[in-house]
Amino acid sequence: MNDCIFCKIAAGQIPSATVYEDETFRVILDMNQAIAGHMLILPKEHYADLYELPEDTAAAAMRLAKKLAHAAAATMDLDGLNILQNNGEAAGQSVMHYHLHVLPRRRGDDTFPVWNERTASSEELTQTAETIRKGL
Ligand code: 5GP
Ligand code: ZN
Repeated sequence: MNDCIFCKIAAGQIPSATVYEDETFRVILDMNQAIAGHMLILPKEHYADLYELPEDTAAAAMRLAKKLAHAAAATMDLDGLNILQNNGEAAGQSVMHYHLHVLPRRRGDDTFPVWNERTASSEELTQTAETIRKGL
């Protein structure tokens, strides 16, 4: 992808604060640090989102997230950690090259609310589970 900023960063054509690199991934610091230590795992190959990402790469990205979680916990002051991944504009994706956010959390920080809770009836839950099962 010629015009993809994350392809260029992952390839090292644009400099970045790199935490880790191997043949499949580059891990950088997000230029907008939601919180100190906010990292992005970028595959070097271009995939727009989770739907395009091969299963093996998805598994490897999560293994790498675990490695980075341990590294952050060992070296930074943190009380928790979120792994976040947005797919599509409606879900908050702004760069259309798959990436996994790794977000250290500190007790009482205001990094982001995880989600708003909505009460659902057990009938709704049963129906929704049935709907999604049809796609498996
Ligand atoms: P998204 O909203 O797509 O899940 O996240 C995209 C993230 O990429 C944002 O948090 C944004 O700050 C970060 N970002 C966008 N462009 C650049 C860049 O050129 N360099 C770095 N380091 N981060 C970027
Ligand atoms: Zn790309």
